[in-house]
This record gives sequence, C-alpha cells and structure tokens, in this order.
Amino acid sequence: MAMRRIREGNDGFVTRFAPSPTGRLHLGHAFSALLAHDAAQRAGGRFLLRIEDIDRARCREEFVAAILEDLAWLGIAWEEPVRRQSAHFADYRAAIARLREAGLVYPCVCTRKEIAAEVAAAGAAPHGAGKSPYPGTCRRDRARAKRRIADGGPFAWRLDCAAALARLESIGRWPLFFTEEGEGDVPVDPALIGDVVLARKDTPTSYHLSVVVDDALQDISHVIRGADLREATHVHRLLQALLDLPSPRYRHHRLILGRDGRRLAKRDRSATLQQLRAAGVTPAEIRAELGLA
Ligand code: GLU
Repeated sequence: MAMRRIREGNDGFVTRFAPSPTGRLHLGHAFSALLAHDAAQRAGGRFLLRIEDIDRARCREEFVAAILEDLAWLGIAWEEPVRRQSAHFADYRAAIARLREAGLVYPCVCTRKEIAAEVAAAGAAPHGAGKSPYPGTCRRDRARAKRRIADGGPFAWRLDCAAALARLESIGRWPLFFTEEGEGDVPVDPALIGDVVLARKDTPTSYHLSVVVDDALQDISHVIRGADLREATHVHRLLQALLDLPSPRYRHHRLILGRDGRRLAKRDRSATLQQLRAAGVTPAEIRAELGLA
C-alpha cells in the first residue's frame, strides 16, 4: 500500500536574524526578524538566530538577554543552539589564513587619523569603498607596515581588492553576480568594495568576514536584511567567491523610519521594543504598524 507522504519541512530554506548586542532592538530590527521568521514559516524552512558579538568593547551580555526576550515577546521561535560569533574566532582566523596564502590580503598599520590625512591630501579617495575609503598606503608601502609590526604595533588585515579581482578574472570567475529577490542577478561593483578591513586591529575578524563565513557554515539559503546593508553585499559576494563559499539569495528590505523621517538607530530609545511594550503596545500592533498583519 502506498504511504501518503506527510508534508515535510523544507530544509533547503534557511534564513537568519543576526543582531549585534550593542543596544536594545527597535522597530527596524523587529521588521527584519519578523520578515525572516515569517518567510521561513511560509516556506516550511528553518529560522536561525545569530549573535554578532565580535566587537568585545561594544557588545554587552545584558543586550543578548534583551534580544532573546524581545524576540520571544514578538512571538518568534528560533533553533538552538544560537551561534555566537565571539565563540568562533578560530573559523574567521582560518578564512584569513586562506586569503593570506593566496596573497589577497595585506597588513595595514594606518591609524584613522593617518587615513583621513592621506584622503584629504589626495583630494579624493582613489580606492574608495562606501563610507570608509582607504587610500592604499600599506598596500604600496609594505616596508613601513613591516617596521611598525616588528616594533609591536597593532595591525589590521585588508583585502587587496585589485589582486582579488585579477585572481577571479584569471580563473574565469569574473564578473560576479548576487541574486536579489524580485530583481534577479545584480553585478558586483568593485567601486563599492575597495580594500576593506577583514580582520580588525582589536579583533581577529570584521563584520564582512564573519557574516560570509557564518552564512556558509550555517547553510543560509536566504539572507533577509535591511537596505542599509545592500552595498555590503558586494563585498560579501566577492569574499564568497574568494573563499569558495556558496552565495545565498538576498532580499534587502525597506528601512523603517522614525517620526522625524530618519532611519531608526539604537540611539532612538523611544522606538525600542522594550519601550513600546512598556507603553502597552502589543505584538499584533507592532505587526500592523510594520504592515505585516
Ligand atoms: N549584525 C548586523 C547588524 O546588526 C546584521 C548582519 C546581517 O544581517 O548581515 O546590523
């Protein structure tokens, strides 16, 4: 007798919410978390929570607890265990080691002040990437970096963007594209990448590197996050290609604006989920406010 198959979960659909515990969650975070959670539910897939706490100076344990509390209050359930990036520095070090062996990163000893001075002197940033252009000082002058490092000075690892593009071109993997839901294939734009920091002076990774490594390790098939991170996706797609990692599909959602029309930030205390809850707002009202009823 043929057995009726019970509808099984869709293990191929895996998404995540990945907050940094540097403050309380606000409406913008609720929007990201609910969109990802609902998409996983609709697809019969998996929803993961990842705590992005590589910045040991700014992240606080009380905010981790607050994130779990706020998400549970919203009616969101996630799989255990929760991945905490601070427990996985070895994974990110291994990724940097791989890029080092391939000659695609270089140590950078520049201070913020030195970078600002050089950018100002050049009049424009030749290797600009978004908000933090780097003029390539340590790529050109390796001896200076070597000297400072030998003296015990701190250094970061930067991507050698030109070398990375040349590498991909030589193996026939350039141009690159990422898939944006509802839009199709978006070409990766090197002008949005530049020589980004992949391991900071104070921590052995960076936001870009750890997100890419973790999305692959956690088998993330769909990344659902705010439009403020859309430019970062160009960096992420390049790193995925350099590290031979799969590329998830992306959906960059609209940003939730405050009453003043500006995008919400952690400094806007009035819009935190905790404040809204204390004022008697219900999770259903939050959903309605976000257009997710
Ligand atoms: N940790 C990032 C943030 O809180 C989000 C990372 C991501 O979704 O890729 O803004």
